Amino acid sequence: MIDATVVGSGPNGLAAAATLARAGLEVVLVERADTIGGGIRTAELTLPGFRHDVCSAVHPAGLASPFFRAIGLFERVPFVVPEVSYAHPLEGRPAGVAYRDLDRTAERLERDGPAWRALFGPLVERIDAVAEFTAGSLVRVPRHPLAAFAYSLRVLEQGTLLWGLRFRDAVAPALVTGVGSHVVADSPSFATAGTALLLGAHAHARGWGFPVGGSQAIADALADDIRAHGGRIVLGTDVRSPADLEPSRVTILDTSPEHLARFAADRLPPRYRRALARFRRGNGVAKVDYALSAPVPWTDPEVRLAPTVHLGGTREQVAAAEREVSCGRVPASPYVLVTQPSVLDPTRAPAGRHTLWAYTHVPRGSDLDATELITRAIERFAPGFRDTILATASSTARDLAARNPNDVGGEIMGGTVDLVQLVKRPVVSPAPWRTPVEGLYLCSASTPPGPSVHGMNGWHAARIALRDRFGVGLSLEGLAETRS
Ligand SMILES: Cc1cc2nc3c(=O)[nH]c(=O)nc-3n(C[C@H](O)[C@H](O)[C@H](O)COP(=O)(O)OP(=O)(O)OC[C@H]3O[C@@H](n4cnc5c(N)ncnc54)[C@H](O)[C@@H]3O)c2cc1C
Repeated sequence: MIDATVVGSGPNGLAAAATLARAGLEVVLVERADTIGGGIRTAELTLPGFRHDVCSAVHPAGLASPFFRAIGLFERVPFVVPEVSYAHPLEGRPAGVAYRDLDRTAERLERDGPAWRALFGPLVERIDAVAEFTAGSLVRVPRHPLAAFAYSLRVLEQGTLLWGLRFRDAVAPALVTGVGSHVVADSPSFATAGTALLLGAHAHARGWGFPVGGSQAIADALADDIRAHGGRIVLGTDVRSPADLEPSRVTILDTSPEHLARFAADRLPPRYRRALARFRRGNGVAKVDYALSAPVPWTDPEVRLAPTVHLGGTREQVAAAEREVSCGRVPASPYVLVTQPSVLDPTRAPAGRHTLWAYTHVPRGSDLDATELITRAIERFAPGFRDTILATASSTARDLAARNPNDVGGEIMGGTVDLVQLVKRPVVSPAPWRTPVEGLYLCSASTPPGPSVHGMNGWHAARIALRDRFGVGLSLEGLAETRS
């Protein structure tokens, strides 16, 4: 019998396997795809030499991840951090620009500058404590109550109709709503506000980083770490039941709650099975990758400094588009999230050429090819963009689900993100990574702290499995000491 098996090689599966391997266990990581990485893969999706991030591209949560820091990721994978974290073009007025520099951002916002500084300044000052508060189960006493209070108070404000009281002009509200819409949910809501405040604070702290070479560099570094500590990685194996695995003292699933319910069906108590059956899924995304002959010709020159751009117009326009998606419709003028990593990282495309990654929210399970919708949304703020397109590759919500069963219906959040389902992910517990089956754990984005690339879900599941099954207590400080 081996010590531990991890199923799924997304950032959380890789993080769990690396943690267990560093603790000296014999670990096998099993992945159904032919390449490792799940949501952190990079591939030539359009033309030779154009390297596109298949899923995640921009890494505010990654740069701030206590796990990635402890494991020494940044010493192995260089990240480039732009001077503009994100921008939000608007019609008939200058774009909103979130510089990494908080003061510069506030200055550009003119009369809303002080309100912006008051919203984000206290979070930026306590960024590590805010990151710690949001990096685990919410069912626990916060270690840094002041930071937790400052963050929660602002979520209450920006997550309710009070959100209109802070700003006087249209630019700052659009910036907040654009960043909050990284989560697929209606605005205002606690989900979009929590996202806006966290990612917005990271924007002015460590910044929104891009790994040189693409997100795959994170997966490759974690896989190297696992192998360097004696772990094995097996590809091309779709794990349906325990019979597909070598017998093992611990099994950690980087898979969906739906998969967990099937995998352990006869061993799960009815109450837990019912909780898994009640787990809710949100809407999906449709993505388009572009190979370009030139950078996007954004009308506002300041937007050209931003690898990440939020499109959709004013706060009201973005909120209305998101409501359409909630009602099961594709908006004519959608919210679109765009990144252009090649403006920072020349390894992404042949000399002088560019890669562009963009997605929009669509009803779950949609088979919409969003190429024309997204191209038009970009043209609205960058006339002439269409003439720079060399090739495109479209992934519908259904395509995403077919490639990765964790992305049910093309939903990329590991289940609806709202207040209830952040606490109940997939059950209410201070250690929701542990299942009622002895030795079986769940570590995917369907556990706290939810989606994004930070490896924290995997770290928590592995830490608890080590304690439960091997009597080993490991802290992030202890993990850092296992570096080799
Ligand atoms: C299009 C898109 C864009 C995104 N953009 C960003 C972004 O810019 N920044 C960011 O931080 N996050 C982004 N995300 C979200 C981020 O990628 C996810 O939150 C993250 O990858 C979740 O990690 P995970 O380890 O939980 O699961 P995943 O990354 O989904 O990995 C799960 C792995 O398990 C494997 N697997 C599933 N079932 C089985 C099975 N039965 N047997 C064997 N293997 C199995 C899958 O093949 C997959 O490799 C994006 C996601 C998508 C899809």
